[in-house]
Amino acid sequence: MNSVSEPNPPVTMPQCKSLHRLSGQIALVTGANSGIGRAVALSLAREGAAVGINYLGGRDAAMAVVDEITQFGGQALAIGADVSDERQVEGMFSQMLKTFGTVDILINNAGLQQDAAFDQMSLAQWQRVIDVNLTGQFLCARAAIREFKQRGVRPDISCAAGKIIGISSVHEVIPWAGHVNYAASKGGVMMMTKSIAQEVAPYRIRVNSICPGAIRTPINRAAWETEAAYDQLMTLIPYRRIGEPEDIGRAAVWMASDESDYINGISLFVDGGMTLYPGFAEGG
Ligand code: NAD
Repeated sequence: MNSVSEPNPPVTMPQCKSLHRLSGQIALVTGANSGIGRAVALSLAREGAAVGINYLGGRDAAMAVVDEITQFGGQALAIGADVSDERQVEGMFSQMLKTFGTVDILINNAGLQQDAAFDQMSLAQWQRVIDVNLTGQFLCARAAIREFKQRGVRPDISCAAGKIIGISSVHEVIPWAGHVNYAASKGGVMMMTKSIAQEVAPYRIRVNSICPGAIRTPINRAAWETEAAYDQLMTLIPYRRIGEPEDIGRAAVWMASDESDYINGISLFVDGGMTLYPGFAEGG
């Protein structure tokens, strides 16, 4: 198919019935049994989306998220899959389609760190982080876009045929010594996101990233757990508080909803100003 053809004509806001934030929509959140993914899944469900709760290990935590959603009247399904494994990703999407009929929103959140000084970093550490953080986002985005393209826009549900939100990081632009594999993976996510967005925008598919700063989750416990670590962290954050997973949940709801319908291919920094070069606040 010609990538510049326009098989889905524009559906502009006034024609589009749904300004209900996410009701009737189907979302898949990867790595949704912990931290940011869990908060995003709960936030999407509170706005009316049915949510696939992907996990790798930690089934109990995934089931707890499902229970929380069903308790407030929402719909959710736990799906175990390693996002870096092509066959498992295909299986996860099949389960979503079988259960919910389609997917409207993909939150590419699963990610990890395996830190080492650069000259001590093993190929296995490099490869695992690239496989999960970058290839995982590729595999899930590809499966989602296949579904969005074949289904097209449902104007009663959303102005777009589908939305993909990659959870990137401030480290898509801030270099990070001792974490070269992680920073490289997130830099890759940035260009992958923008390039996919450019390619599929004519199909009315939106592809954006959210770039969290320091958020209070298990991945960066060492950075906030002690008072000394927290005080040190604050020197990097002009807004002088750590981010909470719900800060990302709220941004994701907005980014997935028609309220952001004209936004495509951007990196939205949710970081309390971490990318404002706080070292230059005085002098420089
Ligand atoms: P977390 O460790 O709580 O969550 C990571 C999730 O990813 C977990 O549920 C984990 O099981 C899952 N996961 C890891 N490998 C997986 C795989 N192969 N397949 C499926 N799931 C897998 O940490 P978090 O802070 O919630 O991280 C979520 C995302 O946010 C990551 O992409 C991370 O890079 C990004 N991020 C976090 C921060 C922060 O300060 N916490 C900042 C910037 C970006």
